[in-house]
Formats: sequence, structure tokens, C-alpha cells
Amino acid sequence: MHLHVNRLCVSLSGTDIVQEVTLRVGAGQFVGLIGPNGCGKSTLLKSIYKVIKPRQGSVMLSELDVLRASPKAVAQKLGVVGQFNDLSFDFTVQEMVAMGRTPHKGLLEADNRQDSLIVEEALRRVNLEHYAQRSYNSLSGGEKQRVILARVMAQQPEFLILDEPTNHLDIKYQLQILTIVRNLGIGVLAALHDLVLSAKYCDYLYVMKKGQVVASGIPEEILTKALIGDVFGVACETYINPVTGELGIAYLDSVPQVREQVH
Ligand code: ADP
Ligand code: MG
Repeated sequence: MHLHVNRLCVSLSGTDIVQEVTLRVGAGQFVGLIGPNGCGKSTLLKSIYKVIKPRQGSVMLSELDVLRASPKAVAQKLGVVGQFNDLSFDFTVQEMVAMGRTPHKGLLEADNRQDSLIVEEALRRVNLEHYAQRSYNSLSGGEKQRVILARVMAQQPEFLILDEPTNHLDIKYQLQILTIVRNLGIGVLAALHDLVLSAKYCDYLYVMKKGQVVASGIPEEILTKALIGDVFGVACETYINPVTGELGIAYLDSVPQVREQVH
């Protein structure tokens, strides 16, 4: 499935947080959304997955009009890994992942053998097959994140939205999660905070600043020293790593503002 977001505007408490954002993710494409803290990435993603109602604009998942469709119709196609996944009720890891099957079941329909196999396979893919009976709340932040990824895989979505999915994770699991997601072969729109990882995994990037998309393109072409300086306010040098052929970014120390002494 492909995603087409057209001229989306979101206002919260009277402030325009997302302004006229238009973006496309092709079928099977892994597209990153980058920009500094507070620029509106989460708000944009939430309005795409129906948690926040946009003031204007449309969201189409192939032929499905997301903003008008029922939550269940959307959940059968769209998987979401949001930023905060804390629960007040305790569930086992297996129960958490099994919740991914809900959009495919009728009211009160019990899980069947096929659901159990899907849940088992999802846990295996995030290396948590031995955690099935553990309490979710007892897990570390990184383990919780992998359970949530397993849950979204059990949902078998045709499109995935991720909001900084590798927060709290060791580099090993950051790479593991992004590799798993890329190998799902479905369209993905992911807010990512690590620019080097966004270049490594994404086919295409949208750059946001103050609620607007200010640049878009393939990572190697848009992640320039000038753009990173302008959007993130940091000095850096970019280079192509001679060993991997991938984009590298060397951040320079930030220069403290020198205040003139007033005598
Ligand atoms: P990002 O994910 O890029 O860090 P967010 O989408 O979380 O950015 O936030 C964008 C801006 O919207 C921030 O300035 C934040 O303070 C503001 N914001 C978020 N939620 C609300 C709200 N409910 N009411 C008013 N402002 C909000
Ligand atoms: Mg955010």
C-alpha cells in the first residue's frame, strides 16, 4: 500500500503545529521523517493515524480514506509504533503481542492456532521467544520496545508508521529493529532522531522544521552540512565512509556564544 498525505494542517490549543504538509510513501518504500525536537513530527504522525484530528487535509492509504474510515478498517491495514508504550495494567508479553491480532477478529472471537503461531513467530523475530510468560511491566525500556514491534508484526499490517522506534535501545537493537522493519517489505513512514541511521535505512527523507516540510529527497543528497546546520543548528562535516560507502556525519563541538563584556 502507498500513503499519500495531502496539505495536512494541525492546530493544537490555537497554535498551528503542522502546516500544509504533503508527502508520499510508495509501496514498499522506507521513508524517514527527521527534524529537531518540537518541530511537529509526532503531531503529524498522530494525525495520520487518527489520534489527532487535523484541521485540514487528507490521508489516503492506497484507496482507503484514513480520516473518514473506521478505526478498525484502518487498523487492519496500518500498524503504528508510537513513542510511549507504558501500560497501567499488567499483561504478559504473549498477551501484549496477541493484541496485535485484534483488528482481524470478530467481537469476542477467541485466538486460534494460527494466531498463536503468528504471535510466536513475531516474538522469535525480535529475539524474545523465551519471554512469552514474562510480565510486560517488568521489562526494560528496550525489551518493551521490541515487544511493541512484535505486536505490530503480529497485526500483519500493510503499512507501518513508527515514531522514533529505537529510542532507549542499544545500538545492536537499533540496527536489529530497523533491519526487521526494512525487511518487512511494506511501506514505512518513520520519525527517526539519528541522522546517520536515517541515511542508512531510508530510501527517502522528509525534513521538518517548525511544522513544515522544508526539504525532501534521497538521504545522500539532502543531508548536507548546510541543511543540518540550518535545521538542527549544529556544525558538522558530512562524508562518504570509504569502507561502507555510506553517508557519515562528523559533528563539531558547538561553539559557545561569546557575550561581549560590558564594563
Ligand atoms: P516532535 O515530535 O517533532 O518532537 P511534537 O509533534 O511532539 O514534535 O510537538 C510539536 C509542538 O507541538 C511542540 O512545540 C509541542 O509543545 C506542541 N504540542 C504538542 N501537543 C500539544 C498540545 N496538546 N497542545 C499544544 N501544543 C502541543
Ligand atoms: Mg516526537
